[in-house]
Amino acid sequence: MRTFTTKTELQQYLAETRTNGKTIGLVPTMGALHEGHISLIQQAQQYCDVVVCSIFVNPTQFNDPTDLEKYPRPIQSDIEKLEKINCDVLFNPPVTEVYAGNEQWHLNIGELESLLEGKSRPGHYQGVTQVVCKLFDLIKPDIAFFGQKDYQQFLVISQMVKLLNLPVRLIMCPIQREPDGLAMSSRNIHLTATDRQHALVLSKTLNWVKENFDSQKLPELKKSAEAVINNVPDVELDYFEIANGNNLHPADQTTNNVIALVAAKVGKTRLIDNVVIRD
Ligand code: AMP
Repeated sequence: MRTFTTKTELQQYLAETRTNGKTIGLVPTMGALHEGHISLIQQAQQYCDVVVCSIFVNPTQFNDPTDLEKYPRPIQSDIEKLEKINCDVLFNPPVTEVYAGNEQWHLNIGELESLLEGKSRPGHYQGVTQVVCKLFDLIKPDIAFFGQKDYQQFLVISQMVKLLNLPVRLIMCPIQREPDGLAMSSRNIHLTATDRQHALVLSKTLNWVKENFDSQKLPELKKSAEAVINNVPDVELDYFEIANGNNLHPADQTTNNVIALVAAKVGKTRLIDNVVIRD
């Protein structure tokens, strides 16, 4: 695997790659890699000749400084994981390589900015679009791969690609889960053993809503889901929404594309998860 920490060296390498007619796939991550990230890279390997994984804990998408500080950064074990699956390129820049100074950025992503994750994490998607736009501009991938785990993020990035007319195709990859259903996340290492058990209520409730979608009214389903989650000790529900998968507005029984999404603090760790109900 080739590892680059500077833009210039990465660009030089990718220019050669492109001259040789090879396609480039990008998997942007913040590291602390798990099977979810690995599945994205493997998917990228099926579609593209050269796969670039970026590991960059992007400061501009954190609205809580403690969260940024606490974010795990096990770079050595990440490198081993990437080598094991034959990832071609790792881009692992320092913050100063990505941000020259006090840069201004604002992209009009409409309601996605103020719904669900946007509402709970003000400014988060501005930071996400800022860094992803920089990565797209630098790497110029043919295809970029993102996880369904961050469903709203996928909608936001799709919106950015449309707005700025960026020449990249986006592919959304399925959520990888632990055998008991917990969605894999870099933040799971912060869960205590008890939190870990409590956290299962999220995927269980999402599945329960999916199973009962056709037999119960939506407001009742949502209410029951909220009650079940609120009943678990040390779990603080942020939102549970049964939404239109295109715009994240609340769904009704006639909506074609339905997704249930949840965010909750389990102990001290904020987790998100979702399940597609109707595609
Ligand atoms: P992160 O490092 O958390 O920013 O995630 C990097 C990419 O991996 C994003 O596109 C996420 O949606 C994706 N991802 C994170 N967790 C999972 C998972 N459990 N399954 C599939 N993709 C995931």
